[in-house]
Order: sequence, then C-alpha cells, then structure tokens
Amino acid sequence: MTGTDEDAFRIIASSPEGVLQSELWKILGVDSRKCSRIVKKLLDTNRVERIEHRQDGIKTFRLIARKGPADPYCLLAGDELIPCIACDEDCVVEDCARLLDWMYQLAISDAEELSSDSNKTEN
Ligand code: SF4
Repeated sequence: MTGTDEDAFRIIASSPEGVLQSELWKILGVDSRKCSRIVKKLLDTNRVERIEHRQDGIKTFRLIARKGPADPYCLLAGDELIPCIACDEDCVVEDCARLLDWMYQLAISDAEELSSDSNKTEN
C-alpha cells in the first residue's frame, strides 16, 4: 500500500463518524479520480466501509474505518497477561494495584526490548 493509501486510512480512522469521500480528496490533495482508486483499494482490503450519504441533494459516500482485531501482544507485559481479563473485582481503574503492577511490568519489558534492540544494532 502506498503512503497515500495509508494517509487516507489514517485520516478516515481519525474521525469516529468517518469522512465524506467528497472531502477526502481535498484533504489528501489529490484529484477525485485518484481518490476513488485509493478508496477502492481500502474497500477491497476491507479496511473501510462506505455508506451512501446525501449532501445538499448530491450523492457522496461516508467512509468509516473498520476496527481490526485487537493485537494480542497489546495484552501482554513480557509474558504477563493484563489482569483485567477474567477480573471480577469492582473496578476502579485509578486505584487498581494489580493493573499498576502490570503497567510497571510493561514498562520494564519495553525497556528490556529497547535495550536488546540497541545491543543488536551495535553488534
Ligand atoms: S483495572 Fe483492576 S479491577 Fe479493573 S478490571 Fe482491571 S484488574 Fe480488574
């Protein structure tokens, strides 16, 4: 996918209510024909959905980003699973020691990963 396709997807995904196709090409700074090709690629790869929309009696489309599946690695701090899964506590996120411990573990594992990556680049 080209940078422009990715730019289009980012613009669409940044707005929960989506973006009108008639506005997207202006935002991207491309002509409407090129914008149609970009939108087709995003539709073909199932990254966006397109809903018919009328603006001042003129038909256009509202483009809305599809949510992808959650990345399972986002639920791990090292090999420790986020405690919220299967938690049956009365949840007050701001006061949760289990979540705070997990977040410390996440910071440690991220720092270890960074350090490991920089050691590989130096060798
Ligand atoms: S934040 Fe704490 S209390 Fe809330 S769901 Fe997660 S682990 Fe459970």
